[in-house]
Amino acid sequence: MRRLLFCLLVLLASPVLAADTLTLLRPARVFDGVDPKPHEGWAVLVRGDKIEAVGPALTAPAGATVIDLPGTTLLPGFIEGHSHLFLHPYNEASWDDQVLRESVALRTARATVAARDTLMAGFTTVRDLGTEGAGYADVGLKQAIEQGIIPGPRMLVATRALVAPGSYGPKGFEPGVEVPQGAEEADGVYLVPAVRRQIGHGADVVKLYGDYRWGAGEDSRPTFALEELRAAVEAAHDAGRSVAIHASTAEGMRRAALAGADTVEHGTGGTAEVFELMRARGVAFCPTLAASDATSRYRGWNGSDPVPAAVLAARRSFRVARTAGVTMCVGGDSGVFAHGANAREMELMVAAGMPAPEVLIAATSGNARIFKLENRLGTIKPGLLADLVAVTGNPTQRIEAVRAVELVMKGGAVVRGAVSQFGP
Ligand SMILES: [Zn+2]
Repeated sequence: MRRLLFCLLVLLASPVLAADTLTLLRPARVFDGVDPKPHEGWAVLVRGDKIEAVGPALTAPAGATVIDLPGTTLLPGFIEGHSHLFLHPYNEASWDDQVLRESVALRTARATVAARDTLMAGFTTVRDLGTEGAGYADVGLKQAIEQGIIPGPRMLVATRALVAPGSYGPKGFEPGVEVPQGAEEADGVYLVPAVRRQIGHGADVVKLYGDYRWGAGEDSRPTFALEELRAAVEAAHDAGRSVAIHASTAEGMRRAALAGADTVEHGTGGTAEVFELMRARGVAFCPTLAASDATSRYRGWNGSDPVPAAVLAARRSFRVARTAGVTMCVGGDSGVFAHGANAREMELMVAAGMPAPEVLIAATSGNARIFKLENRLGTIKPGLLADLVAVTGNPTQRIEAVRAVELVMKGGAVVRGAVSQFGP
């Protein structure tokens, strides 16, 4: 056998794989997404788009391609729990300007690059929580990825998202002027039909804004009544869709939990009582620590003291939620900051006191369970999709290692990697 060393940069997302294509990945260790301890010396055998075997002393079957990944940890592909592929960092253009001045064509073109950057960072699945004014373009983006036209992660999409009339933005214009909004306005008896319409147009998850600032400079206050949220959640669940509710106030979070939301986003004003309610009702929490961190830095914060109030509030609620035992979703609100820098949320979760192995479990099998994907992906075990990422170093000891991506595999296809392998 001749040993070949070559660099492989595959630009297509999902080349069609023969069902019996065999690949043996040999990293230094395997983090399977469930066990907090990585397994030294384990290897993973991939057949077609699925994991065939994982364990010690795996040998390459005849015809298998062997990929040596010395010094790396192989993990399940990361799952981004809260992205906006149709937004780009607010220090490049304000949210208002993106919604008001950028065409859907421009935003979609940019989103294709955001999708590629996300995948190349090792995030093989994203839950994208709203196009923020770009209509149903996320459904088309998802189709382009699924059809192999562009590289990108598997997507769960929320389409337009739903807000109470008058509560969202952009706002501050002459009332007679029709201003494009960042989400669909609907309430009362019109809310459930809007939920169903979004599902009919392709929403995998229904996103509602349970509270928001009614006026510039104000604190957030509840938007939808509990009964409105209940009806919306019931309609979504009837259709087999999950529900994400943006809520940063304790009352908004309480209503979200009572209404049966699957996840609560942000939650900076969460109290011990409301997190206990979420735990009891099985509502997961997506703290989006990276969002307040990024927006504070855009306003001039350099990471040192004094820490801005928004960052302190996010860290505080994160601690309270952990004490209450709430299931933690990993989702940074990427789009507020650069796509491809998704690992920022994991780093901030560790910095805020969550052990690195727990964060890695949350970002893989944990998010998979919350998003009801655990039977397809999120764990390295036979039968699941071969969505894998190899990083240099051991991220269970040093979380920053998740940024040192060496190889990304999606559905058995290497989409990023410097590959050392045995040739024919
Ligand atoms: Zn968001």
